Amino acid sequence: MEPEFLIDPWGAVLVEDYRKIIECFGLKPFTDELLRMMPEPNRLMRRKVVFCHRDLEVILNAIRGGRPFYALTGIVPSAEKIHFGNKMVVENMAYFQRYASRVYMLVADIEAATVRGISLREARRRAMEFHIPAYIALGLNPEKVTFYFQSENKSVMRLAHILSAKVTLSEFRAIYGEVTPGKMVAALLDVGDILYPQLEEPMPGVIPVGIDQDPHIRLARDLARRFRKEYGFIPPASVYHKYTPSLDGRLKMSKSRPGSYIEIPEPPESVEKKIWDAFTGGRPTAEEQRELGGKPEICVVFELFKQHLIEDDGELDRIYDACKSGEIICGDCKTMASELMKRFMEEFEERLEEAREIAKTLEFAVE
Ligand code: SF4
Repeated sequence: MEPEFLIDPWGAVLVEDYRKIIECFGLKPFTDELLRMMPEPNRLMRRKVVFCHRDLEVILNAIRGGRPFYALTGIVPSAEKIHFGNKMVVENMAYFQRYASRVYMLVADIEAATVRGISLREARRRAMEFHIPAYIALGLNPEKVTFYFQSENKSVMRLAHILSAKVTLSEFRAIYGEVTPGKMVAALLDVGDILYPQLEEPMPGVIPVGIDQDPHIRLARDLARRFRKEYGFIPPASVYHKYTPSLDGRLKMSKSRPGSYIEIPEPPESVEKKIWDAFTGGRPTAEEQRELGGKPEICVVFELFKQHLIEDDGELDRIYDACKSGEIICGDCKTMASELMKRFMEEFEERLEEAREIAKTLEFAVE
């Protein structure tokens, strides 16, 4: 099926219909069958917040057969803080890290410079002082990770140049829409990053991302096939998580509406205010809600419980049922969500301090 719309990895997309995305871009839904194949799936997988994939079966077969594969993630240090979408990427990386033979985390400093206008020096500062420590604080185990900066990895740059020989301008336009030269360079470097681990030895790889990054995955898979003869590349697999919805009930948190999203880290008072202002599935009055019950399926506070704040599936089910039956009302949930979010932020800040010390000792691959 021809895509009816484009996904822009550098812009803010609103995903209105995840099923349509799956159909349009030839993704595969994350099914119960797949879930049963996974050893100890994480919270995001169990609850289908991870909603689709490309070739995940290849990775699961590698896990079951004890065969090597790699997992890779990158950060673009264009902002001073991160958001809950980054947290989901880290959680999925931490899952695959348990089984992967090699794990990579790169800092896309060239992309930050060419697309976002952040100098290499500033990108490095942000990455070292915050982004890398934040990923470690959120669960990435640095002991089993190869870290590198795009600007220092000559193998990636060489590979990006070589890959450029088999892609055309019209393909760029078909995948990304209107592209600038800077965006083309960034896209080729991203693909270079994704395939770089296979230069040493071709093997399956998995890239956990938000759906907005799928254009890079598509280009990487196409180019992996075109360069199979020369390099033996295997098209990388990917898993995609849904967005954390905007607190005002829209589909994605947006920088242009600061009240619509929670950053990591953020002071508890401001988080609490945002949660109390959040869109819920509650009724106009407490009396009505006690009588008719709420609608957790459209409730942003419930979504925060589901995606981030409540680990225990039984507890989440109990909240769902208590909401439906009118046993609890929105004030109860907001009090609980504020408390859990406060605890999360405090624990994050504590772990961040330790992770900053670890980050100072890391070695970065320069090739
Ligand atoms: Fe959401 Fe809780 Fe209100 Fe139900 S009671 S709509 S889960 S905030």
